[in-house]
Amino acid sequence: MAQENSANHDHDLFVIGGGSGGVRAARMAAATGARVAVVEEYRYGGTCVIRGCVPKKLFSYASHFHEDFEDSGGFGWTVEGARFDWPTLIANKDREIDRLEGIYQTLLKNAGVEALRGHARLLDPHRVEVSGPDGTRVHSAETILIATGAKPFYPEGEGWEHAISSNEAFHLAELPKRVLVNGGGYIAVEFAGIFNGLGSAVTLLYRGPRILRGFDEDVRETLAIEMTKKGIDIAVEATVERIEKVAGGLAVQLSNGTSLEVDAVMAATGRRPNSDDLGLDAAGVKTNGKGAIEVDEYSRTSQPNVYALGDVTDRMALTPVAIEEAMAFVDTVYRGKPRSMDYENIATAVFSHPTVSTVGLSETEARERHGSVDIYRSLFRPLKHTLSGRDEKTLMKMIVERTGQKVVGIHMVGPDAPEIIQGLAVAVKAGATKEVFDATVGIHPTAGEEFVTMREPVPEPEPEQQAAG
Ligand code: NDP
Repeated sequence: MAQENSANHDHDLFVIGGGSGGVRAARMAAATGARVAVVEEYRYGGTCVIRGCVPKKLFSYASHFHEDFEDSGGFGWTVEGARFDWPTLIANKDREIDRLEGIYQTLLKNAGVEALRGHARLLDPHRVEVSGPDGTRVHSAETILIATGAKPFYPEGEGWEHAISSNEAFHLAELPKRVLVNGGGYIAVEFAGIFNGLGSAVTLLYRGPRILRGFDEDVRETLAIEMTKKGIDIAVEATVERIEKVAGGLAVQLSNGTSLEVDAVMAATGRRPNSDDLGLDAAGVKTNGKGAIEVDEYSRTSQPNVYALGDVTDRMALTPVAIEEAMAFVDTVYRGKPRSMDYENIATAVFSHPTVSTVGLSETEARERHGSVDIYRSLFRPLKHTLSGRDEKTLMKMIVERTGQKVVGIHMVGPDAPEIIQGLAVAVKAGATKEVFDATVGIHPTAGEEFVTMREPVPEPEPEQQAAG
C-alpha cells in the first residue's frame, strides 16, 4: 500500500489537525524521510492536551484534596484553614498546558515537520487551502491525513446557548457554586466529581436509568452509589427542556416536571466529529450520517490517497487509540508494513471519584459472546478507610469464560483503578487464564492483590434472575 513520493507535490504528507493522532503520524512519517506538513487551527496538542485528558486530570487531582484533608484526621492530622482558590488552579493549569504545547511544537520541529497555523479546506484530493494568520496558501500533497478530532454536542432544546461544555469549563472566571451537569458518560461523571470535590453543589442529570451506559452493570451501580454518598445528586430518566437566564443564575426546567436554579449548566452529552467545512465533498471523501469520515481497516477514506484517523472517524474516541491508529497508518503507508489497528481489549478509565477502570468484556457482553462464564467479585472497604472512617467501597470484578478459563474482562471502581488495570490489561491482551492469575503471587498489602487472590466464583444466578438482569 506504499505510495510513491511524488516530486510533483509540495509535500509527501499533509496532515490536517495537530492533536494526538495527527502529530504522531506527522512525526513518524517524517522519520521515514517523508516531506511532511501539519496544520492546526487552534492549539498544537489537540483536545487531549489542551482541553481534555491532561487538564481534566489536573482538575481531578485538585478536587481530591478535599477528601484527602478530611481523611487525614483519622491518621492524626489536623489541617486548619484549608481553602481552595480557583484562579490559582486555572493559572497553574494554563502554564502547564502552555509548556506541553511548546513540547509538541518542538517535537514537530525536531522531526523536520513543517507546522502551520490556520484552517484547512480540501480543494481536491491533492490540494489543501490553508487560511491562517499569514494569509491563504494552497499546498499540494501526495497523501492527505485528516485528524481533526471532535467537538462538543449540545442537545436540542431552548436556552442551550447559556450552557457551557467541557471546553469552557477549563476557563471559567470563577467556580460555579451550583452546577447541573447533563449526561451520563465519561465527561459528565468526571466533571460531576471535579465540581463536587472543589465545593460546588452538583446535580448530574442523565436521560437513562443508570449512568455509564455500556460499562459493566456492577460498575455502573457501584459508581452511582459512591457518587451519591459524596453528595452528588444524580437525577435519572429526565432531560433538560429549557434553560433561562434569571437574576440569580440559570433556571432549568426538566422533562420530569421539576426545575432547579444553578450558576452553570454543562452539556456533557457526547461529541461529534469535526468534519464540517473541510472540503470533504470536493475531495470525494465520504462521511456517515453523524459526520464521521468513513474509513477502511487501514484508515483509508473513500478517496484512496486521503486517510483519516482519531475522533473524526468515530471509531473509539480515545487518545491512545488515535495514536495507535497513527502508528498503523505510518506502518502501512510509509514503512511498507500494512497493518490495521487491533481494537480488542483496549483498557479505559473514567477519572470519576472514585475512579473506574476496565479492560475486556462486561458481564453482559461476556455472557452473550461466551455463554457460560465464571464471575469473581469483591466489594470491600479499602485499608486506608479503616482509619479515615470514610464510607467508600472498592469494587473488583473478574470475568472468566468457563470453557477455556480465559480472563475476558476485568473491572474496578476504587482508588488507583486506572493504574492497576493498565498492568492487568497486558495479561488480558496476552490471553492469560484464571490459572495464571492464581499462580501470580500478590503484592501485600495492596488493593491490586485482590485480583490474584479471587478464589470462589459468585454463585450463578437462578435462570429467571439471569434473564431479568
Ligand atoms: P459519552 O458518549 O461518553 O457520553 C454522552 C452522554 O450524553 C451519554 O450519557 C448519553 O446518553 C448522553 N446524551 C447523548 N445525547 C443526549 C441528548 N440528546 N440528551 C441527553 N443526553 C444525551 O460522551 P462524552 O461527551 O462524555 O465524551 C466523549 C468521548 O470522549 C467519550 O465517548 C470518550 O470516548 C472520550 N472521553 C474519554 C475520557 C477518558 O478516557 N477518561 C474522558 C472524556 C472523554 P446515553 O448513554 O443514553 O446515550
